[in-house]
Amino acid sequence: MPVLKIVTGKDNPILRAKTQQVKKITKEIKVLVDNMKETTVAANGAGLAAPQVNRTERICIALIAKKLTPLVNPEILWRSSDKETMEEGCLSLPEIWIQVTRPREIVVRYRSLTGRERELKLSGFDARVVQHEVDHLEGVLIVDHRSENVM
Ligand SMILES: [Zn+2]
Repeated sequence: MPVLKIVTGKDNPILRAKTQQVKKITKEIKVLVDNMKETTVAANGAGLAAPQVNRTERICIALIAKKLTPLVNPEILWRSSDKETMEEGCLSLPEIWIQVTRPREIVVRYRSLTGRERELKLSGFDARVVQHEVDHLEGVLIVDHRSENVM
């Protein structure tokens, strides 16, 4: 499985584009997911979204319960009003670390690689990683959260 090249730069149009829903989980999609996993491991990351490897599918990988989990067509259905601020980095923004405030808990709906629809309630680190990756699928980067932290 090849390691893919990670796209960088906060103003890069590839990282700013919205992604497209995946209609069918083809062999090509499965290969993409395998390569994205490999790339995440090689970069020592906690997750990776398709735009970061120059793709337009609504797919991300996120470390959930310490396991790299592929999420196809993820949607965040619920966010807790309880928030938490933590420092985040991003493989596409090397050397930038930002305090980001996010809901502490979420419910995410997605499809697994078998096509089965799943819903997970996540909290803490798991919830944060998934929110970070779903942001990527909307063209949103951690630098966009900066203003929320200004008093
Ligand atoms: Zn990122």
